[in-house]
Amino acid sequence: MTRSIPFGRPMIGQEEKDAVMNVLSGPILVHGPQAKQFEADFAAYTDAQEAITVSSCTAGMHLVWFTLGMGPGDEIIVPAETHVATAHAVELVGATPVFVDACRATGNIDLGAVENAITSRTRAICVVHYLGMPVDMSRVMPLAEKHNLFVLEDCALAVGTRLKDVHAGLLGHAGVFSFYPVKHMTTAEGGMIITNDSDLAGKLRLRKAFGVNSTHSERKVPGVYDVVALGYNYRMNEIQAAIGVSQLKKVDQFLEARKRNYSALEEGLRGVPRTHRLTSSHGPFVSSHYCYSLLLDEELGECRSEIVGQLNAKGVGTSVHYPQPVPRMSYYKEKYGWTEGSYPNAAWLSDCSIALPVGPHVDLDDVAYIAGTLSETLQEFVG
Ligand SMILES: *Cc1c(COP(=O)(O)O)cnc(C)c1O
Repeated sequence: MTRSIPFGRPMIGQEEKDAVMNVLSGPILVHGPQAKQFEADFAAYTDAQEAITVSSCTAGMHLVWFTLGMGPGDEIIVPAETHVATAHAVELVGATPVFVDACRATGNIDLGAVENAITSRTRAICVVHYLGMPVDMSRVMPLAEKHNLFVLEDCALAVGTRLKDVHAGLLGHAGVFSFYPVKHMTTAEGGMIITNDSDLAGKLRLRKAFGVNSTHSERKVPGVYDVVALGYNYRMNEIQAAIGVSQLKKVDQFLEARKRNYSALEEGLRGVPRTHRLTSSHGPFVSSHYCYSLLLDEELGECRSEIVGQLNAKGVGTSVHYPQPVPRMSYYKEKYGWTEGSYPNAAWLSDCSIALPVGPHVDLDDVAYIAGTLSETLQEFVG
């Protein structure tokens, strides 16, 4: 039995294809009804007062820092274990990312270490719901209030993530989602900012489109407008938004499949020696189950590339989240310096984990195959 199970695959059906063809058959490719619809639908799905389409999650996070006026001399706390985009968004406005190590149990930012990282220059905290597991925001927000900090949630893997029934992105002051092809839902490339702060939302809308003071439909004389702020072009086009509208209708099904696959894989891998797993959904903490991360102990971790090589050869697609603690990546290392051992938990997550697929492209037979192949492969290494 040979299988080939990719780590992730966009779930594009006839609905998305029809939606795209509909847009292409009409005259409006940007500034149209699809982006408005997608924003309204996403706001309803998350229960947000405001939802703003953007061209990617990275663009959205950059836009938030830019709009808040973050810049040189300002420090923003970010987790060491994340996609580089979280830190890049801070760097792009000239502010300084201050990295905090991960918690070994959840992979999320170590909340015990956040307060120690706060200085008189700290202006904000960016949390990341690691692999879809919600950060305990009931510990973050009092700290933010005490020190007057803005809290941004990097929700790239957090569609469906909830804490006490509140959707991720509304637990802090704003949240930004990603619709990159292998995330929970896709628009090919794209992102969404949500917030309950309508004043901030207005400023973000302005700055995502050149700082132009009126939308197309509001202009009295076509082509005539004023510019009241500096801004980017971070819009999402109608083709992307139309895909998003269709994908959002399916996202609960996708999340259900992820949860089912995650539980089955967890069950199938129970008792595999010298491995650890991260805490997942429990009580009010609802994960979006982006992937199943199997953590090898430090010694076994040295064989990770061989183990992964064998899994891939047997048709089990894998990934690593994330390839390096951000401060160990060359750009950051050269700029801020790197001391070996400075973010031990982030390094363990990067160097010793194997991310396994649980997306809706995977069925329960696939899960059984993944669990069986993994147990068999590890046996050789565990000895
Ligand atoms: C994927 C990812 C991003 C980047 O999202 P884009 O839409 O590609 O910009 C940012 N943060 C995290 C945590 C991610 O996993």
